Amino acid sequence: MADKKLTLDIVTPYGHVFTGEVDEVIAHGSEGEFGVLPDHIPFLTTLKVGMLAYKNGSETGYFFVNWGYAEVGMDKVTILADSAEKAEDIDVERAKEAKRRAEEKLRHEQMMEDAQEAAALERAIARIQIAEKHQIR
Ligand code: ATP
Repeated sequence: MADKKLTLDIVTPYGHVFTGEVDEVIAHGSEGEFGVLPDHIPFLTTLKVGMLAYKNGSETGYFFVNWGYAEVGMDKVTILADSAEKAEDIDVERAKEAKRRAEEKLRHEQMMEDAQEAAALERAIARIQIAEKHQIR
């Protein structure tokens, strides 16, 4: 039992972000946070913008994931997201700039553009929070 692993794959249109063998995956689905261990019942869910984590022995990895899907199989979790980065790869200055830009546009633009800018703001805030909490300095 203890030897059983899950393959975690994180794929985006920008490229393959992660592939590896892990003990557990923790993600935020549309129904709330969920954890996946080996031999989990297969299911498919949409993901919320935010953090995805894995545990592998004493090692833990954290990622920012944009909107997407998680496909859970018995021994595999595939994440298909619009964009994703490992916490260590988040450029905090870029996210802060994206946040400033989105806030500025939200102050001036019409209702039509609000949803797009609100989504950009949500991405930027999530990236900043994940980087501040999980980047090793
Ligand atoms: P920006 O306006 O700064 O481009 P965005 O939220 O519009 O941000 P996305 O569309 O989510 O960006 O992602 C586009 C690509 O840029 C993806 O490859 C994503 O991983 C990368 N990316 C975006 N923001 C950051 C960041 N702050 N740090 C590292 N990579 C980032």
